[in-house]
Amino acid sequence: MNVQAKPPHENPRRIQVAPGDNVAIIVNGLGLPAGSTFPDGLVLNHFVPQGHKVALADIADGGDIIRYSEVIGTAKGAIRRGDWVNEDNVVMGSAPPLDQLEMATRPPAKPEPLTGHTFEGYRNADGTVGTKNILAVSTSVQCVSGTMEFALKRIKAELLPKYPNVDDVVALTHAYGCGVAINAPAAIVPIRTLQNLAGNPNFGGEVLVVGLGCEKLAPERLLPKGQETGTLRLQDEAYVGFGAMIDGIMERVEERLKILDKRRRETVPAAELIVGMQCGGSDAFSGLTANPALGYCADLLVRAGATVMFSEVTEVRDAIHLLTPRAATREVADALVREMRWYDDYLAKGEVDRGANTTPGNKKGGLSNIIEKSLGSVAKSGTSAINAVLAPGEKVRSRGLVFAATPASDFVCGTLQMASGMNLHVFTTGRGTPYGLAAVPVIKVSTRSELAKRWNDLIDLDAGPIATGEKTIEQVGWELFQLMLDVASGRKQVWADRWGLHNDLTLFNPAPVT
Ligand code: CA
Repeated sequence: MNVQAKPPHENPRRIQVAPGDNVAIIVNGLGLPAGSTFPDGLVLNHFVPQGHKVALADIADGGDIIRYSEVIGTAKGAIRRGDWVNEDNVVMGSAPPLDQLEMATRPPAKPEPLTGHTFEGYRNADGTVGTKNILAVSTSVQCVSGTMEFALKRIKAELLPKYPNVDDVVALTHAYGCGVAINAPAAIVPIRTLQNLAGNPNFGGEVLVVGLGCEKLAPERLLPKGQETGTLRLQDEAYVGFGAMIDGIMERVEERLKILDKRRRETVPAAELIVGMQCGGSDAFSGLTANPALGYCADLLVRAGATVMFSEVTEVRDAIHLLTPRAATREVADALVREMRWYDDYLAKGEVDRGANTTPGNKKGGLSNIIEKSLGSVAKSGTSAINAVLAPGEKVRSRGLVFAATPASDFVCGTLQMASGMNLHVFTTGRGTPYGLAAVPVIKVSTRSELAKRWNDLIDLDAGPIATGEKTIEQVGWELFQLMLDVASGRKQVWADRWGLHNDLTLFNPAPVT
């Protein structure tokens, strides 16, 4: 166990989420040494690191450990008041049974509308609005990725400078398309993900698909009906040599750049935002600062008529009993259970359960198990009614709060939310990640000020002042809302875009590879 020689030169600080909780989180940046005494007489029996839990009362062997008013586990051995509570002395229980949930019993009332907030976006023919003006070149198979990368270098050097109103050209490359069981039932997930990615609002409807010619996934399948002319095959006999293929791609790209270059931003209501929310590198502060602030902001977005998606099944599963009562209808509650059950089965086939989610970094940050992580994670969803549920990669068609089922893996979740149609991404992080996406701005929110200071050129907003009492959840929620409108308008650039930090698209393929 870590013992600190010198006490920090500040008063001991802790946060207890709910009045009935029997653990609290240590706030002090360096943690607190044994013997630290709080004004109410609580004395620490051990060094407790920042973000970790201290017992507020004696807990008998097998007794409930309560945080967020919920049981996050039971005591392994007797825990004394002032003890450090961590994964070594907490036993995790099982996930809430899916057949004993309250279904759409308490859907929250429609909130008071929030009007007068706008952003400057690119209106698309299908009614959606882009926050960027990007040309996407999709691909039907991994075989063409190297060629696309080669073409992209030339496109960016020779063509893009001629069309200053186009923000970027992005290649949608991936590992799918051939050598896969394309007719397996679960293949619908990667296929519709690719189809819907091409329809993301930030691509303005001018997508080109580059294919090879002999692959299982025909390029035409990635475009809406009637737009099949937007495809090109490298094996087409018209292309004699590699140079001709590159010229062919560049010619087709330039036709589309000419169209996109004519587009201009226009003022649109905040209701046109489609926000994808997720977290990564979570810590014990995620559920105290960044996620509740994002949840408050999600409520503001819902009031403004926007669409807000939360995801990450393994981080929702242990809090599902708090979500199904909030479903707008019985059908929505059923769909939530359907997605949980599908994922339980998926994990069971791999002989793991949702406990496989938590990372060493999560635990170092004070999260003892997936139950505690989930309770903090669902704070992102705010308090609105859940209006709809999407299976992985489905396109969002409802406004308000939507659950889009995805794995919690950052890049897989981000790819699926992009396919669902997000035009803005918000990502909360405690441990820190330089994560970014080429096509959709990613606003990164830190859970602690230490991270925001250390990564001052990667974190866009610091929710840490909520923990120290310098700001309220509501204040940071409004700051985030305003930042979203600025980023969506192109007035502010997120750090990931300033550095060009763009993760690869990563498809979720639950079907067999052949
Ligand atoms: Ca994640």
